[in-house]
Amino acid sequence: MRGLMQDWPLLVHKILDHAATYFGDRQIVTRAVEPDGGIRRTTYADIHRRARKLASAFQSFGVRLGDRVATLAWNTERHLEAWYGIAGVGAVYHTLNPRLFPEQIVYIANHAEDRIIMTDLTFVPLLEKIQDHLKSVEAIIILTDRAHMPQTSLRNVICYEEFVAAGSDSFEWASFDENTACGLCYTSGTTGNPKGVLYSHRSNVLHSLAANQSDALGVSNGDVILPVVPMFHANAWSLAFSAPMAGAALVMPGARLDGPSIYELLENERVTMTAAVPTVWLALLNHLEGNNLKLSTLKRVAIGGSACPPSMIEKFEKNYGVDVSHAWGMTELSPVGTVGTLKAEQKALPFDERLRIKSKQGRPMFTVEMKILDDAGKELPRDGKAFGHLVVRGPAIASGYFKGDGGQVLDGEGFFDTGDVSTIDAQGFMQITDRAKDVIKSGGEWISSIDIENLAVGHPAVANAAVIGVHHPKWDERPLLIVQKKPGHEVSREEMLAFLDGKIAKWWMPDDVAFIDNIPLTATGKIQKVELRNIFKDYRLPTAGAAAAAGGAS
Ligand code: ADP
Repeated sequence: MRGLMQDWPLLVHKILDHAATYFGDRQIVTRAVEPDGGIRRTTYADIHRRARKLASAFQSFGVRLGDRVATLAWNTERHLEAWYGIAGVGAVYHTLNPRLFPEQIVYIANHAEDRIIMTDLTFVPLLEKIQDHLKSVEAIIILTDRAHMPQTSLRNVICYEEFVAAGSDSFEWASFDENTACGLCYTSGTTGNPKGVLYSHRSNVLHSLAANQSDALGVSNGDVILPVVPMFHANAWSLAFSAPMAGAALVMPGARLDGPSIYELLENERVTMTAAVPTVWLALLNHLEGNNLKLSTLKRVAIGGSACPPSMIEKFEKNYGVDVSHAWGMTELSPVGTVGTLKAEQKALPFDERLRIKSKQGRPMFTVEMKILDDAGKELPRDGKAFGHLVVRGPAIASGYFKGDGGQVLDGEGFFDTGDVSTIDAQGFMQITDRAKDVIKSGGEWISSIDIENLAVGHPAVANAAVIGVHHPKWDERPLLIVQKKPGHEVSREEMLAFLDGKIAKWWMPDDVAFIDNIPLTATGKIQKVELRNIFKDYRLPTAGAAAAAGGAS
């Protein structure tokens, strides 16, 4: 027997309808991308009105169900309008990551067959260089007003404000099946070409409902949220949907993501919650410490994308009274998978014990199923010790990549292999030990590079640290610690090793420490291990000669 409930399609523009009806006056604040732009203020009511006009303008342009419209843009109110305007006409918003190499952007835009690119002024020079290689793009909409339109060699350029103004005020959102494609975001593709993850309206709505659970991102109408995480990275961790769904105000940081600019917005706009990758928070904490500043309104910070070191959680919580939610996810998961909110019984534990738990990547929010498997595909125990391949299943998790790239990605039970290696403890907290391809295999055992990196960045002279496996004649691989020092700080190899001594198992101790001016980061702020392995491919560990000699003698 079927239930007798209404068939109300889960469409993302209904989120904006809700925000405009019940929280129409909530502010959306933007740091303008235009150099003289200052701060712009608008509301959900206005965004709702303009997004519908935009959708109507797209309709007049000839944009149809399933067409891809790309955005190459910072977090601004116009970018938010663009997402809703595109999705509201049944087209697919496709976020292009400007931090990728131009050739990658060309590859992705052609693969997606984007018909239109909406861009900020910042990226006009980039588009001028690549326009001749873009095969499907018919028009470029510049996200600004007439007064700021640039001199450009770009062809078929449209001014955003004029495009919106030409739209109709009486446009009604399109209605269609909730499984219709809504958004497209390519994974960075550290190996091989980037692959497209294609969200549906249904998956975006379900994911935002899940992310809004109070033990997950817990967004509410009293919040003022600063998404530092770009909309071009992994669906902005759902905040462009979760915030309007809950009626939270938004502060959009535009192009300036440095410590002082973020601090200024946090304080001036009375932000209560923010989210970004650890490198952003390193910069903010440096700014706070260097200038003896406090955070007066911020209550929570979500940190994910790479492992959040315990020293960062400790600083936020002890020095600034800000609660840290360490989260894990990936583009293929829409993207939030786990959040490290403590269970009720854990809240009374001593600080160090809570810190240990919060340093893990957290518990799956409802809608995410997960387990860990050994190499043979057998499930491993949830004891916090056994580690294996992390696989996941749920309604906002990719079932395959756009156009079938990468082939079949689900196992016989419908689980997706995340490519991460992790433990799960008896309380359900998952801890990433590595990406499968970064694991260091020493004498048949695995060493977690993330654990060592987390400790190393706790040293006051260290700006960033990476651990990679380097060939060793006896052990196969041994860990090499690579350190980027903070400007004006000094630390020696011996001091670094002494700092780690006693904090990790003896056989995990790096065999050597190398210093480097800049640890290379990916377009999404992760350490580029492939590049580091390349730089250090001929590195000879001091222990290698001794081992080879000993091996020869025995
Ligand atoms: P990209 O690969 O394009 O940078 P993703 O954001 O999808 O984009 O990357 C997802 C990967 O990032 C995960 O598979 C995991 O390896 C890593 N990651 C995300 N969050 C964390 C975290 N909190 N701790 C450790 N690794 C993380």
